[in-house]
Amino acid sequence: MSLPANAKKLVEYVMMDEKFRHELMIDPQRAFDERAIALSAENTSRYWNMSKGNFNDVYFGTNLLNDEERALFQVFQSTMRVHQFYYDNDRFTSASPEFRQWRSRMMRRNYFMMGEKRTKMSLLLPFGIELSDGCSGGCWFCGVGAQKYNGYYPNTPENLENFKQILTHLKHQLNQNAQNGFLYFASDPLDHPEYHLFSQIFYDINGAHPACTTALSDKHPDRAQRVMDMINHLPGPGVRFSVYSLRQLDNIFATFNNDDLVHVSFAQLAKGSTLTVANSGHARRRFLHNPERAKQEAEKLELIDFSHESINCLFGYLLNMVRGTISLVVPVNSSDDNPDGIEFLAKGTFKNADDVANFIETMRTTIMRNHLIATDHLKLQANINIINENGLVKLTTPHHQLRLIAPQFTLAEMMEFVGQFRNGLVFQDIDPKWHELTHYIWRNGAIEIRN
Ligand code: SF4
Repeated sequence: MSLPANAKKLVEYVMMDEKFRHELMIDPQRAFDERAIALSAENTSRYWNMSKGNFNDVYFGTNLLNDEERALFQVFQSTMRVHQFYYDNDRFTSASPEFRQWRSRMMRRNYFMMGEKRTKMSLLLPFGIELSDGCSGGCWFCGVGAQKYNGYYPNTPENLENFKQILTHLKHQLNQNAQNGFLYFASDPLDHPEYHLFSQIFYDINGAHPACTTALSDKHPDRAQRVMDMINHLPGPGVRFSVYSLRQLDNIFATFNNDDLVHVSFAQLAKGSTLTVANSGHARRRFLHNPERAKQEAEKLELIDFSHESINCLFGYLLNMVRGTISLVVPVNSSDDNPDGIEFLAKGTFKNADDVANFIETMRTTIMRNHLIATDHLKLQANINIINENGLVKLTTPHHQLRLIAPQFTLAEMMEFVGQFRNGLVFQDIDPKWHELTHYIWRNGAIEIRN
């Protein structure tokens, strides 16, 4: 097994296994040997002995001291692939103006709910296409509350052609940003036995394979291997394995060629892992059922970040190929009304690519338009306070604030005008002298159209 393959094993066990982290502090070489990690504990100590504070030196690749550190750096670089891909800004700016402006409004709306930092950490995926209905994973932490698996979209020639045309329409609106789309949502790509065929069509149209995040790598190792063989070395965010237990981690290293795994990112979700899960979907239901236990677990394991209440990734179209449904969705903080942390702004059905194109066009000219029209009913986001602070009117939540500066109005006039959005105002009833300010507040996500 190569040095990078061993380094990959080291990184994943450090991230996932609390006992291993503990053992490293006592007898590091023995801990390596027991997990068949063929590296020198001494040569890699700058990585695993994070208490010395050298983690970042290794992570960013400065002053690499030996071949083992170089192998670790290679592993980090390949793990960063998914982030580097998604945070490439050029791709975002290639989407149509309507889509870009709508997404910007939605992001600003979410600043008030979740804060700017967390909203910007979102992957901002422009569409998700479910190739299967529901999911066989049944993961307790599923942040989107996937329903039970209920079949997949057969890969008949007609269906493949239909899928191709749908992707072509999405590409038409999103341009290069379509590369950030993906082929699952509340579903798992490997629940589809021929996922790779659809990924290949995506690649042919968009020039990159979509992200393939799966919790079913050890349930369907042949399917996982086929996808790794196909996309590990091609452009795109690559393959990511969600790993929910140490037993599954052991299985993965025992099942797959460990050199292939160097190119796979892992989402470490086992007990004792250093990653947090969103408090939404099935995880939220579990925590609500037994909040005390959930909190103890969170404190003990530092696993759950309770302020993280949506998986917060999809600002765009959600299609289910099995049911023929299409929606426009954005993330919201999960709540009793919205336990899965997803808000559906519009819903439709489709039989073919023309129906999808019509839905997209309707969204472009209605919800995504960048100006208000006479009949728009405008309402302030429920959680926003209007305050007068140091002579300025501010719209605030604990996460974000928007200052309103309009010297042509007195403070009292501003407070009164903005206050009316609590109960809602129809745009045609607003005096034109307030139109510019109204658009400003709307574009910054504080008021929304609730027609
Ligand atoms: S986390 Fe993924 S694999 Fe698990 S139930 Fe949800 S959609 Fe399925």
